[in-house]
Amino acid sequence: MTDEKNSEAAAKAGALIVPVSPFQQNCTVLWCTATKKAVVIDPGGDVPQILAAIKQADVTVDQIWITHGHIDHVGGAAELRDALKVPIEGPHLADKYLLDRVVESGRNFGMIGVRNFAPDRWLSEGDQVKVGELTFDVLFCPGHSPGSVVFFNKDMKFAIVGDVLFNGSVGRTDLPGGDHATLIRSITDKLLPLGDDVGFICGHGPGSSIGHERKTNPFLNGAMG
Ligand SMILES: [Zn+2]
Ligand SMILES: [Zn+2]
Repeated sequence: MTDEKNSEAAAKAGALIVPVSPFQQNCTVLWCTATKKAVVIDPGGDVPQILAAIKQADVTVDQIWITHGHIDHVGGAAELRDALKVPIEGPHLADKYLLDRVVESGRNFGMIGVRNFAPDRWLSEGDQVKVGELTFDVLFCPGHSPGSVVFFNKDMKFAIVGDVLFNGSVGRTDLPGGDHATLIRSITDKLLPLGDDVGFICGHGPGSSIGHERKTNPFLNGAMG
């Protein structure tokens, strides 16, 4: 297994990270070890590489999950849905305006062949998504984008946080629809209470843990878990 980010999760889940798009976004192929059923999270582009990773992992993808609507997370979503014939779940409806402008946004970054799309299911706080025998709670965490969601598996103490929180940083909020105060509130109200021992994969760069970020992240100075 390559790039396994959370050793506690290793028994029940496996993950391969495929950096995609000009932004090196961490597209993640995540699977349930017991069933070999898998999900692709945030297919931002480079679909052939994602398909190769799926083949390498020797798993059956039956869904695509989206954390938020930015081009580097969704650029390959429509193409991958067509290739795999699987549904797309997420993000929150508040990011619809971004999914309606994927082509326009791609053009700004030289990403051709991207398409606008609607997911098969919008996600809200309190929803759950499942892959094989693994269940993830959906946490609505606006701020980086208005419709950002985080996927949290309580059992494995593991989360996929998109661009809400990074190792040593937080999501940028200078893009249209971003709001820094809202983002920090999402992190302090929804993510920090998950517990210091929760590990996460984020949209860019290396993963981390909630505890490490609570103690050392300069954007969260003094925040209580
Ligand atoms: Zn983003
Ligand atoms: Zn991103």
